[in-house]
Amino acid sequence: MTRSYAAEATAILNHLGVDPARHTGGTMAVFTPLTGEQTASLPTDTAGSVADAVTRAQAAFRDWRRVPAPRRGELVRLFGEELRAAKDELGRLVSIEAGKSPSEGAGEVQEMIDICDFAVGLSRQLYGLTIATERPDHRMMETWHPLGVVGVISAFNFPVAVWSWNTALALVCGNPVIWKPSEKTPLTALASQAILDRALARFGSAPAHLAQVVIGGRDVGEALVDHPGVALVSATGSTRMGRSVGPRVAARFGRTILELGGNNAGIVCPSADLDMALRAIAFGAMGTAGQRCTTMRRLFVHDSVYDALVPRLVKAYASVSVGNPLETAALVGPLIDGAAFDAMQAALAAAKAAGGTVHGGDRVTVGTDAGQYARPALVEMPTQVGPVLEETFAPILYVMRYTDFDAVVEDHNAVGAGLSSSIFTLDMREMEQFLSAAGSDCGIANVNIGTSGAEIGGAFGGEKETGGGRESGSDAWKAYMRRATNTVNYGRSLPLAQGVVFDI
Ligand code: NAD
Repeated sequence: MTRSYAAEATAILNHLGVDPARHTGGTMAVFTPLTGEQTASLPTDTAGSVADAVTRAQAAFRDWRRVPAPRRGELVRLFGEELRAAKDELGRLVSIEAGKSPSEGAGEVQEMIDICDFAVGLSRQLYGLTIATERPDHRMMETWHPLGVVGVISAFNFPVAVWSWNTALALVCGNPVIWKPSEKTPLTALASQAILDRALARFGSAPAHLAQVVIGGRDVGEALVDHPGVALVSATGSTRMGRSVGPRVAARFGRTILELGGNNAGIVCPSADLDMALRAIAFGAMGTAGQRCTTMRRLFVHDSVYDALVPRLVKAYASVSVGNPLETAALVGPLIDGAAFDAMQAALAAAKAAGGTVHGGDRVTVGTDAGQYARPALVEMPTQVGPVLEETFAPILYVMRYTDFDAVVEDHNAVGAGLSSSIFTLDMREMEQFLSAAGSDCGIANVNIGTSGAEIGGAFGGEKETGGGRESGSDAWKAYMRRATNTVNYGRSLPLAQGVVFDI
């Protein structure tokens, strides 16, 4: 008998206390990419119900902004505890809904736990500067205040982690959150919200509607984007989505954090440790079936090591296990849907037409099911043209030879996206040049590791068509707060700045 992932997903949702009315009897069908089975049909929101959610969130904001930040951190600490308790269930649901392997599903929940820990500490570190003033008996300082309602729009491929990066920070910064998850992965959103609701119940005194989920597709996202009551729109997804969201929010002078597509590359230099590079590239390019924003999609290999590395990579591509990662130990799971499979095939055809040699990339039949499985493709390209310049959200790695270091850094930067990058070298001059102002133009630049698998402690995001936003660690929290500059006169005279005289 075939396993029913729908039944398993429903059981997890019921166990976490999600109201069945939120995932049954609606018009929005969702499917597991593992087998193509429909898992649920959800009622969707409308522009009107999104506006109601914003009104409720604004009411929550009026109370929450006055709660001391370390106390707000206590809520996030409890959320981290609840996530630890629910890690197995939520990780399993991520695997069912996004097709990730068990370790990737669990890893995504671990990332949620990690950002909670980070945010709890942060709740006592929302520092502002004190600044030297030119006037005697004055003090100048910066104060960081809560910003307002944060709208989170998320992509299918990290269905829960990206929301948690935003939510853990937004909550300690004093903001309510409204989440519009991907229409492909709404069940993990309802589950995550239920886990946060448990923390809210234990916390006891948070305002109602501090965190809400709205369900639907692009139109529901647009309702959040256009609502003047949403102070910050944090949107993760394709560059196409960001091109629409950015100007619309800017038109009403709202703020955005845009986390968009990547076209990430690695450079393998003559001195590279090739064994290490091979493993890093294989994981970076084939892991999560090439469906990470940080997936390695382009590889430049120095002419002197090309023949020592690339045939080994081709072999790894031919032998990597492809299959249902919940039924087997397969390292490469399914693509999210048929459209993703078609986009992969179209890119491979275009690469071939541009002179590429394609290894792999064909359909893999897994059981008798409707899951969309493909063998990852390695494509040897004569130059960086055509589909190499675009992000295709599938496991395709374009490999090119190089001879000159300065030229390869230019080629590396000659694409629209600017998310992640890496160099494999033991030569400190190459390494430092790659990390310098004249090197990689990406938000993430790594040495001797791949392009994917970032930790939450660093600021995450990229430049150019990746949108410029930063989330997660470092001082990314500042995007969720507004800054006030305060000048205090504790003297008995009124000196004016810049020596201006105005005696009346
Ligand atoms: P997508 O752009 O199709 O959808 C992302 C989200 O945006 C969904 O919730 C969707 O409903 C919503 N949306 C789409 N158009 C919209 C619009 N005009 N207005 C408002 N909302 C809109 O992306 P996807 O296929 O779910 O995810 C894959 C993409 O996401 C890839 O390009 C990947 O690189 C990118 N991604 C980027 C990051 C990052 O941090 N930079 C992280 C994960 C994924």
